[in-house]
This record gives sequence, structure tokens and C-alpha cells, in this order.
Amino acid sequence: MNQSALLTAIIDNAIDGIININTNGIIESINPSACQLFGYQPEEVIGENIALLMPEPDRSRHDAYLARYQETREPHIIGKGREVKGKKKDGSLFPFRLAVSEVQYQGRIIYNGFIHDLTREKDAESQLLQYTNKLEQLVAERTSELQSLVTQLQEAKEEVSHSLEKEKELNQLKSRFVSMASHEFRTPLSSIQLSASLIDKYASDYHNPNITKHVSKIKIAIGNLTTILNDFLSLERLEAGVIKPQFQMMNLLKFSEEITEEMQMVSKQNQNIIYQHTGTQSNIYTDSNLLKNTIINLISNAIKYSGENTFIEFNTEINQQGIFITIKDNGIGIPLSEQKHLFEAFFRAHNTGDIPGTGLGLNIVDRYVKLLNGEVEFESSENKGTRFTLKFKQQDGK
Ligand code: ATP
Ligand code: MG
Repeated sequence: MNQSALLTAIIDNAIDGIININTNGIIESINPSACQLFGYQPEEVIGENIALLMPEPDRSRHDAYLARYQETREPHIIGKGREVKGKKKDGSLFPFRLAVSEVQYQGRIIYNGFIHDLTREKDAESQLLQYTNKLEQLVAERTSELQSLVTQLQEAKEEVSHSLEKEKELNQLKSRFVSMASHEFRTPLSSIQLSASLIDKYASDYHNPNITKHVSKIKIAIGNLTTILNDFLSLERLEAGVIKPQFQMMNLLKFSEEITEEMQMVSKQNQNIIYQHTGTQSNIYTDSNLLKNTIINLISNAIKYSGENTFIEFNTEINQQGIFITIKDNGIGIPLSEQKHLFEAFFRAHNTGDIPGTGLGLNIVDRYVKLLNGEVEFESSENKGTRFTLKFKQQDGK
């Protein structure tokens, strides 16, 4: 194979496009790669101005570029190479790297251009740019979301601490009001009590049963009011932490019998409180005042929330596990859905109807039992009765 045949083969098979033009910009030869890139057949471009393959503004200016170069010999592309756009036969544009060299051949000057298609690289580049932009946008969006979340969180935090502060203030105000009102009510109540007793005394001469009946009603009402006020005051004192248990040894059996007797007097018609103790021991170490108040609260509930002609079981037991006190009735029970609120202050279940009460008893019971280092448990279902159990550990000094 001679030299020129080899060169022709190389040019024909080159991957890059190769175009030769003369000094007037007229295409003299074009290889198959260049033809494919621009979408022309060789005969359509050979003899045409190279400007045919360029988009504006280079298309109109190319002749002037050539003339300027030939005059000044100052190269802009020749010998340098740069990225330009080509125009295909179908009018579409594509990017390529153009390297032009000047060739002296048989006394003539020929410009030889190498065209390296950059479509794929550019596509990849723009895709990358697109991804980067998308990513940046996503990051920006997430950042602003995060920022707004942080702001919201801060606002919520401030709001919560603000409302907590307000609630605390309100609670203090409420406790102060309750204790003040309770104290203030006590004085007029004791004068009413005293006057009722005096009326009772002076009216005895008249032997009028109606006077006796109404005076006794007044006395019972005063008694009830005093109990409520006492509850308010204990709650306030419990909250202020001034109630401190005074532990002492005492006889649980005797103590419970006394309570049973006392409560039997305020029970309903034919309501029987049955007390029973299990165990050989009966001495326990506790604060008898707090424990008495607790048991009275539970038995009053049993009386209040069960009907006439029923039994109320009151049991105490001392064994290896500790001290157990149970109070069981067969009354209206506590609806399951409301049981979670049972020990909250002022809670009253919806099935209490017009049975009177303030909803403070069990709240006080719960606090007293805690002060006595014990636990309260209960079991109840609507219309099937209720059982409360108090559990204490047997203390040293038994
Ligand atoms: P008071 O403050 O006068 O005791 P109260 O009895 O309504 O009022 P708690 O003793 O705290 O208040 O009881 C709260 C609520 O629990 C009652 O209103 C009642 O709905 C329910 N409850 C408590 N004990 C019983 C019981 N033995 N049987 C049925 N319901 C009960
Ligand atoms: Mg009660």
C-alpha cells in the first residue's frame, strides 16, 4: 500500500470529521465522519462555502474571518482549536471541538479542520448540571423546611412554657381562693350551728315536732358543708406539703371496730357494714388520723354509691406480705371508661346522678396513702360493685 492510499484510508475511517477548504472557504474534501455529522452527502457540500455548515452569526462572518487572517496572519482558530457549534442539514445545531491547521500543498494553502463531536459530552455535562441544580434545589427546600420546623418548635416551646406558667399561677390563685373561702365560711357556719342548737333548746318547751325536724335538717346540712370545707382545706394543706404523717404503733383491730361502729350510724336503711380481721397480729405502725380519714372516705363512698339492704364488707389482714385493708360494696360501680380519672380532684363518674359529692374524697385518699407509704388498688364494674384495697408494708417496731 502506498503512502497516499494509506492516508486516504486513515481519513476515510477516522472517527472525527475532517474537512479541507481553500483560502476562499470553499470545501474541497470531506470525510465520511464529517458527512455523517452534518447529514450531507459529499457532493452536496464539496464546492460549497464552509459557512454552509455554520449557524449565525459565524455563517455570515466567516468570509471576513478568512480575509482578516490572510491579511493580518493573526490566528483566532488556526493552530488553536476551540469549541464551536455546527449546523446540520436538517437545521439542528450540535457542539464540537474544532482544530484547524494550515497546510501548504503544491504551492497552495489549504485549511484542514478536524471536527470532534461533543454532543454526548455536552449532554452528559448538562445532565450533570441538571442533577446538581435539582440536588441544590432539594437541599435548599429541605433546609428551609427544617428552618421553618425549628421556628415552629421554638414558638411551640415558648407557648408551652407560657401556658405552663399561666397554669401554675392559676393553680396558686385557685388554692389560695379555696383556702381563704373555706376559712371565711367556717365562722358563719359555726354561728349557724350554734343558733340551730339554741333554737333546738328554746323550742323544746313548745313540743313541736316540725321545729325539731327542721333544726335537725339544718344541723345535718351544716355537718355536710363542714365536711366539704374540711376536704378543701386538707387538699390545700396537702398541696402546700404541710401535712406530715406522725407514725405510731396502734391496734388496727380496735381502730377498725370503732370506725365500723361510727360508719354504721351514718349508713342507709339496712345497710350492714361487716368488719372482719384476718391474722394473728393486730398492731401496726402508722398515722392513725390519716388512715382513719382514708378508710372513712372509702366507706362513705361504699355507703353513698350502694343501695339500702346491702352489705358492705370491711376487711383487714396482716400477713407476711404486709397490711391489707379492703372495702367492698355491691353498688353502682365505676364505668370502665372513666376509671382512669378516678383519683383526679373533682372527678365524678357520670352514673352518680343526683348522689351528692364534690369529687375530692379519692384524691385525698390517694395522697394520704402515698404519705403512709402505701398503695391503693381498685376493682369495679358498672352495677356490679366496687372493691378498694389499701396495701402497706409492715414497718419495723411492730
Ligand atoms: P366527696 O368529695 O364528697 O367524696 P365523691 O364521693 O363524688 O365526693 P370521690 O370520693 O373522690 O368523690 O369519688 C370520685 C367518684 O368516684 C365518685 O363521684 C364516683 O363516681 C366514683 N366512686 C368512688 N367510690 C365509688 C364506689 N364505691 N362506688 C361507685 N362509684 C364510686
Ligand atoms: Mg367520696
